[in-house]
Amino acid sequence: MRAKKAALRGGTGRSSQKQGEKVGKKNSMRRKVTRTGMLEKLKKSVPVSENREGERARTRQCVRCGLCLAACPLSGAWPPAGEVATPRGKVAMLQGFLAGELVPDTFFAAEFWQRCTLCRACETACPVGVPVAELVVGARRWLLEQGKVPATAAGALRSLRLYGNPWRRPPAERHAWAALLGLKDYARGARAETLLYLGCLAAYDPRAQRAARALAQLLLAAGVDFAVLGAAEVCCGREAYSLGEEGLFVWLAEKNLELWRRHGVRRVVTFSPHCYDAFKNLYPPWGEVWHYSDFLAPLVENGRLRFAPGPSRRVAYHDPCHLGRHNGVYEAPRALLRQLPGVTLVEVGAEYGPGVCCEAGGGRMWLPAPAGSRSPAHDLLRRAAALGAEVVAVACPFCLVSLDGAVQTGQGDLPAVTELAELLWGALAR
Ligand code: SF4
Ligand code: SF4
Repeated sequence: MRAKKAALRGGTGRSSQKQGEKVGKKNSMRRKVTRTGMLEKLKKSVPVSENREGERARTRQCVRCGLCLAACPLSGAWPPAGEVATPRGKVAMLQGFLAGELVPDTFFAAEFWQRCTLCRACETACPVGVPVAELVVGARRWLLEQGKVPATAAGALRSLRLYGNPWRRPPAERHAWAALLGLKDYARGARAETLLYLGCLAAYDPRAQRAARALAQLLLAAGVDFAVLGAAEVCCGREAYSLGEEGLFVWLAEKNLELWRRHGVRRVVTFSPHCYDAFKNLYPPWGEVWHYSDFLAPLVENGRLRFAPGPSRRVAYHDPCHLGRHNGVYEAPRALLRQLPGVTLVEVGAEYGPGVCCEAGGGRMWLPAPAGSRSPAHDLLRRAAALGAEVVAVACPFCLVSLDGAVQTGQGDLPAVTELAELLWGALAR
């Protein structure tokens, strides 16, 4: 992932017909979206810096049982290890800060910026439901307001404001991934109820672009009537939110919602779980929102996509944090893999309940780990290799870029990393 990051900086059981009928009925439920409405929703769902009493109450939920300690992929990844580096340590630090007993210093800032991917593994282990990831976002929001933000993250946020993507890439190049595919483009006057929303990583990263092309071709092969926003697409804002920039998130969300409204979008299918999470959980309600794995599963079940016999392979599926733990989508990607002739599914993170973090989420794409740190991505690949997996399949461009980069920098015989859409497209009966 680290090499990829540098390169980027430089440069559900329903058929689509039934979905259409459903959306028609749901249309009347669509709400007029206002900035105030979105901010109200955000205030209900996350601790904001003005809501100190709310944050205090959340930190006081912690009974210090320690069940989260082993779950965190970053606790022992670099020194100092020990209590401060754990989820419980973060909650305690925040408690001390909110009580006025702890002065936030550089060390405090580094722990909240760097040592968390918002993976929610700790929350899965927590018996009393401490919302550790949202507390971390709240701390980042406060740090940002104080100007205590790492330069790399500040650069990504600035780029989002200027270019609508975090890598200072020209918006005009955003649609280059789809050259020659002949996709319907709303920006060129196309009409369609279903929007395929790519997201920034798939739009600009060459590795993720390959997977995006595979997904678009699968949708075409299944006869789905969809369009893309092309060069007009802007970031969903999820990573701005993760980096504590609530105002920027709302600004980007308003831009997206305006585009959807203008083009009559009723159904959004996302490539990235990060965009899916933003649209589903942070945006106001809007028609239907699907991650592509959930959208494709019934199309395969109904025979609209069929697969040819293929070689025997042991494939480990890696649950992306923003798809699994954040949204509970575990079965659809596995159901799709089970449909592929020759594939034996291997569970790589079951004991982690479920899923191991790839380390790229929660804004970590712009918050590099210290040199020489242990990489959770390498841990995951070694775990898959030990289970005899020849391939690790992911359903997320962040996981793809992170794990693919880890294969290139890792040692020993590591499995290949592939996006689920690529596996499906490669196996399609033609
Ligand atoms: S959200 Fe993930 S990375 Fe952050 S403290 Fe919890 S387990 Fe660790
Ligand atoms: S598992 Fe929950 S209650 Fe226990 S120490 Fe961790 S955050 Fe606190």
